[in-house]
Amino acid sequence: MSNSLQTVAYIAASILFIFSLGGLANPETARRGNFFGIGGMALAFLATALGGQFSGYGVLLTAIAPAVLIGSLLASRVAMTSMPELVAILHSFVGLAAVLVGVANYLAPDSNLTGSESVIHQLEIYVGVFIGAVTFTGSLIAFGKLRALISSKPLLLPARHVLNISILVATVVFGAQFMTLGFPAGLTPLLIMTALAGVLGLHLVAAIGGADMPVVISMLNSYSGWAAAAAGFMLSNDLLIITGALVGSSGAILSYIMCKAMNRSFISVILGGFGEGAGKPQAKSDSAEPQGTATPTTVEETADLLLGARSVIITPGYGMAVAQAQHPVAEITKLLQAQGINVRFGIHPVAGRLPGHMNVLLAEANVPYDIVLEMEEINEDFPQTDVVLVIGANDTVNPSALEDPNSPIAGMPVLEVWQSQTVVVMKRSLASGYAGVENPLFFKENTQMLFGDAKKNVDAILGKLRERLEAKVLVGAG
Ligand code: NDP
Repeated sequence: MSNSLQTVAYIAASILFIFSLGGLANPETARRGNFFGIGGMALAFLATALGGQFSGYGVLLTAIAPAVLIGSLLASRVAMTSMPELVAILHSFVGLAAVLVGVANYLAPDSNLTGSESVIHQLEIYVGVFIGAVTFTGSLIAFGKLRALISSKPLLLPARHVLNISILVATVVFGAQFMTLGFPAGLTPLLIMTALAGVLGLHLVAAIGGADMPVVISMLNSYSGWAAAAAGFMLSNDLLIITGALVGSSGAILSYIMCKAMNRSFISVILGGFGEGAGKPQAKSDSAEPQGTATPTTVEETADLLLGARSVIITPGYGMAVAQAQHPVAEITKLLQAQGINVRFGIHPVAGRLPGHMNVLLAEANVPYDIVLEMEEINEDFPQTDVVLVIGANDTVNPSALEDPNSPIAGMPVLEVWQSQTVVVMKRSLASGYAGVENPLFFKENTQMLFGDAKKNVDAILGKLRERLEAKVLVGAG
């Protein structure tokens, strides 16, 4: 393939990636967006592999064949609830790739580069390896936290900010050495900096508490994009630079949106609790203690409650994803709507374990998009709502975020479900959610607890609703 054809293919792939991002911005166009992304990636791969300068097809095949096999096997088997872990580990691969490309580039210098070009290339290598190493170890810790291999509690070392700043200062000092020492002596400061950056990534993410993990995921997404862009600079590959910049900037925007949704300061979160807010120790305070007793309810009572309501809001959370209850939930919605009941969904921006997690599940169950509302669109409607069904949500409906200034989630906007007439919370126990914070909602006077697996209970409610409606029809016919 000629160079100009390759350039055209790269431009086409970049355009497809931009269309892909545009498509992914909306559930209705997300599927199309995904196809644009797949098309762009296939084109990018072919254009690179068939490009004029490339000849190592044997090596390429040996590397790609097992990777394609392992990747497709893992991706097809992964449960929706384990997606965040998969994303985290994939980010770590991007980081590791940037480190390896950087070191390889240093070890095999391009003899065509002289003067300022060579200096710039050295800088690209140093910065690329730094970002890659931070992304690599940070993503490994995020993976461990999301998979519950390590505690989701923040690691708050007494001198943690001093440690971070010292590593940054050392990075600059070793950077100066790397730039002045010639090849191969510069390898030592490069490798020392790689190890230090690895410690920095590890420490930065370890210091972030469970409640702030959504921001960490999107932030590592952004880092992985910048790591890829850095690799693009090192390899003089324009497409990699563009793709990396797209991922890096969209990840940064997503992190900002997540921070806004959680009322957190971006800087405070990424520095692991620098300043107030993020990463607070899990203080137990009066309002977080159980207040009174929880009132259990039954499937029958819940079905009757729903049939007697004029307006119902369903607020799903991580538990709905675990139980895979979205399909019967969609059936219940249809059934209630057919009775003239106004049913809507309230989605918290960090519900579940991935941005948009609940939207994906509800779209999969064919719930119409127009009744799926964002938190800020629906929060004012709770006081006029008869019944709220909380399905496997916990942190995102926790009133202590607004009522208890000592709560680790203090200040995070939540779905104010308790403002409605009756709340039915469906979960298996009174256990806390991902952030490990007790939830006073369970003990409120207008809250009823429907204990058990969400799928089983939702199926049972659906069965009961059908029974009640059939009986009504028979009575009407009689
Ligand atoms: P939570 O994690 O707060 O709570 C989920 C609840 O679901 C649990 O308390 C659990 O209670 C219940 N549950 C689990 N399995 C089942 C089941 N089979 N049937 C019924 N209930 C079940 O969920 P939310 O969605 O409210 O909040 C999301 C949390 O995750 C937030 O803290 C957020 O910060 C964090 N997070 C979000 C990310 C994102 O990008 N969206 C990424 C990383 C973290 P029980 O055990 O009693 O059943």
